[in-house]
Amino acid sequence: MTDAARDPARLEKGRVFFAQQWSFWLSVADMNGLPDFAGVEVAFAGRSNVGKSSLINALTGTKALARTSNTPGRTQQLNYFVPGEEASREAPLAIVDMPGYGYAKAPLPIVEEWNELIVAYLRGRVNLRRVYVLIDSRHGLKANDEDVLELLDKAAVSYQAVLTKADKIKPPALATAISNVEAALKRHPAAFPEVLATSSEKGTGLAELRAAIAELA
Ligand code: GDP
Repeated sequence: MTDAARDPARLEKGRVFFAQQWSFWLSVADMNGLPDFAGVEVAFAGRSNVGKSSLINALTGTKALARTSNTPGRTQQLNYFVPGEEASREAPLAIVDMPGYGYAKAPLPIVEEWNELIVAYLRGRVNLRRVYVLIDSRHGLKANDEDVLELLDKAAVSYQAVLTKADKIKPPALATAISNVEAALKRHPAAFPEVLATSSEKGTGLAELRAAIAELA
């Protein structure tokens, strides 16, 4: 991690931003349902079971803001969360929880696995500022993750890879996982070169991720 990423003032801004109460705002099931929102949107994507709900809950300090493990076949929706006791379109930023992918036994191209809304959202949402693509520390990048990265490159949406469940592997294996993903990202023009490692269980990396998100608000 760079020194700038660990700058105490920057980390403090992230802490304060996320110390607010967070609320569920709305679910979007089709393009017409996308809210009229002037704030910045930050989306979280990842294979099912990657730890996405746990990470959103850990970041926002809530127990059940994001529900864990959306079951396959459930309506694919975008779920919006905003800071504030009462959800409002005046919020400076929204976290957008995207449907998990990778349920199919044989990996499907991502445009087949995600519905039109999700793909259109990634391609065309003007206030979408960054996508955090979550990768399980133990598994690394899979074929469908690569599909997502390619979709984001084509859409020219800035994204950063975030390793999850860092507590599940030993530090040397984690260092290898980080460098493997960083090496793979060199082939992706829209990717942030730096990979964040997090553990929702132990709190690792949460301060840095909060700071990165708060900076976009
Ligand atoms: P989602 O399907 O991506 O929303 O994943 P969940 O948040 O439901 O997590 C899937 C499973 O991984 C659950 O059993 C979580 O308890 C577990 N999990 C998530 N994050 C962590 C973590 O940081 N460390 C550990 N050890 N387990 C985690």
